This record gives sequence, structure tokens and C-alpha cells, in this order.
Amino acid sequence: MTSHALTATIDLDAIAHNVGVLRSAARTDVMAVVKADAYGHGALPVARTVLAAGARELGVAHITEALELREAGVDAHITAWLHSPSADFGGAIDNGIDIAVSSGRQLAAVVAAAKEQATTATVSVKVDTGLNRSGVAADEWADVADALAKARADGSVTVRAVMCHLARGDEPDHPLNSQQAQRLDSAAADLRRLGAPPQVVHIANSPAALTRPDLGRDLVRPGIALYGRTPVPERGDFGLIPAMTLSAEVALVKKLSAGQGVSYGHTWIAPRDTVIAVLPAGYADGVPRPLSGRFTVRIGDRVLGGVGRICMDQLVIDLGPDGGGVREGDRAELFGTGRGGGPTAKDWADATGTIDYEIVSTIGARAVREYQGGSGE
Ligand SMILES: *Cc1c(COP(=O)(O)O)cnc(C)c1O
Repeated sequence: MTSHALTATIDLDAIAHNVGVLRSAARTDVMAVVKADAYGHGALPVARTVLAAGARELGVAHITEALELREAGVDAHITAWLHSPSADFGGAIDNGIDIAVSSGRQLAAVVAAAKEQATTATVSVKVDTGLNRSGVAADEWADVADALAKARADGSVTVRAVMCHLARGDEPDHPLNSQQAQRLDSAAADLRRLGAPPQVVHIANSPAALTRPDLGRDLVRPGIALYGRTPVPERGDFGLIPAMTLSAEVALVKKLSAGQGVSYGHTWIAPRDTVIAVLPAGYADGVPRPLSGRFTVRIGDRVLGGVGRICMDQLVIDLGPDGGGVREGDRAELFGTGRGGGPTAKDWADATGTIDYEIVSTIGARAVREYQGGSGE
């Protein structure tokens, strides 16, 4: 049992289990997406766990994220796909990072860095097949494909993958999913024709990996499902197990008289004499302020409501007139697996008009990450 004021307990066995769920649903290999510190779960322990559980490779947004994993000794294939002009392509090449480029400018910069080091860069190409975000724009594709073939011919790059990202993957039956796949397949065919064949093709994020095995190609690229959150709630949970449990130690218990207001603005007035508990978790820790008065916590087997404004560092729970036997030092579960009726990250997301991706990935650094299970490092 943890003894920190605020703890995010990460169940590595759940993450390993979720890799298995994804591999069997997608019927293909997995590139585990561990960007944004593995959606708040901790990039390094998660990377080690998913690789031990059978994921073939890793994906991140920034080169800096890839370099941190390399420095920590992770030698798996890592693809990084988001680069601004200050990106360290030289460092990526030095460390064998697969650089997924989104434009001719990025490709030219990678080629220049490879030439400077008199070496060959591993490059993937991200094609914009309809998301209209990152990826090579349709009107630039012919030029980029030519430049890639030229760079391959002169030995400055190896072409690893063509990839794209779905705009509506969480609507499994939307026709755009298949259209995007067709556009990607035709980009791969262009590269083959130009003598720069990609070694692998990948499209599918978590929702597509779980619901559209026909889009699998050579790899799927799940993120959120690894962490046990269903990306398509209306299709169920796919047997995924949520990996993060956020819990706080009860900091203070005190009596309150009927008519007294709680926290900033006194947005909640005690309707009766009651007992309240203060928890050391607030919006600086990733508890959304708009959740004020709209959440519960679990203490032991009791589910108790939050009252008053959520502050930067703390929030208040109404324990009821008898105090429910709650003592300072008891642990309150803010969200977890949902088993036994406890609150989930999805509950927070639904109450605040966002998605559970945002909830777990913004849990702050004051929540000490504690790891359970896993195959050991
Ligand atoms: C974040 C990301 C993913 C993972 O998406 P999930 O919905 O979390 O599975 C896959 N591919 C790319 C390019 C991404 O940016």
C-alpha cells in the first residue's frame, strides 16, 4: 500500500494484458505509442513492459521522447513523427531513431543531417490521407515521393514505413476510414514504383486496431487501449484493464455545522451538520476544476461526494453526519478500474466534456508513480 500524499499506481500487468488484447484483435504486430510519458503512465516502465509483452516497437511524437528512451537503454525500433524546425535530426540519426517526415522540408533537413554524418537515416513518411493535420499534403506528395526515391538511391535514407493517422477511427463504420486506407495503399504503391518500397505500412490507432482488423496492414499503433481505456465505449471495453489508479491520503477530517460554506466562493453550503475530509489533490495535479461538485471518491467500501470548488492543491469530500469512520491517513481512490462501483477517468471526462485520454495524460508530477506487477527490469 502506498504512503504518498498523492499516488498514481500503475498496474504493469494490466498493460501487458492489454497488449495481448490488441494483438489478438488486430491480428498483427503492435507499435506501442508511449508519447506524452506514456499518456502519464511513465514512458520507460511502460516501454519495457509492452516490449516484454510482445509489442514489436515503440512510437512517440517528439524526437526528444525517443532519445530519452534510448538513453535509458531501450534498443527497440522507435518512430518519432512530430518535428518542428528546431528538431534534432542529427541526434535522432545518431541514435537510430526512425524519423517520420511530414513534408519535403523535413525530408530535406533529414537528408542534409545524414549527409553531414556520412551515414544513412531511417525515415518513414507520414501521409496526410484526410486528417488534415500532420502528414505530407496531397499536393506535395509527388515531389516528396520523388525526393524520397532520390535520397534512397544516393544512400542517405532507408525507407522504413508509410503511415497515416485516422480522423474518425472512433467511428468504426465511417467510410472515411477505408478511404484513408486506400489513399495510403496508393502512396505505398507510388513508392514501390519509384524504387523506394516501404518495409511496412501502418494506419490503425486504438479504435481501429480493436474494431477494424481489415485496416491492420503490417502494424497497428495503439496508445489509449494499452492503458486500458476503451476508445469506442459504445462497443464495450474489449476486455481491456485500466492501468492507472489515482489515490490520495486523507489530509484532514473536521466537523462542519449546517449552513457553513465550503472552499472558495462557498459554492456548497452544508445542508446539515456534517463531517468533511480534505484531500491533497487539485487542479495543479490534473483534477479538472470544472469537476467541482460533480465527482465521487471511494474510501474503503464507501463512495462519497466531492463538495465545493476544487482548488490548486486540495479538494473537499463530504463524509456525512457520522463521518463514515474515515480517519486522517486513510486512502481515497479518485479514479481507478471502476470495479466495485468506484469512479473512473471516464467519469471525470464525461462530467467535464472531455475524453479520458486528457484525464490520464494530464495527471501531474506531484502524483508519485508507483508500479505494480510487470516482468521486472
Ligand atoms: C497518438 C497517436 C496514436 C495513438 O492513438 P490512440 O488513439 O491513443 O490509440 C497513433 N498514431 C499517431 C500518429 C498518434 O499521434
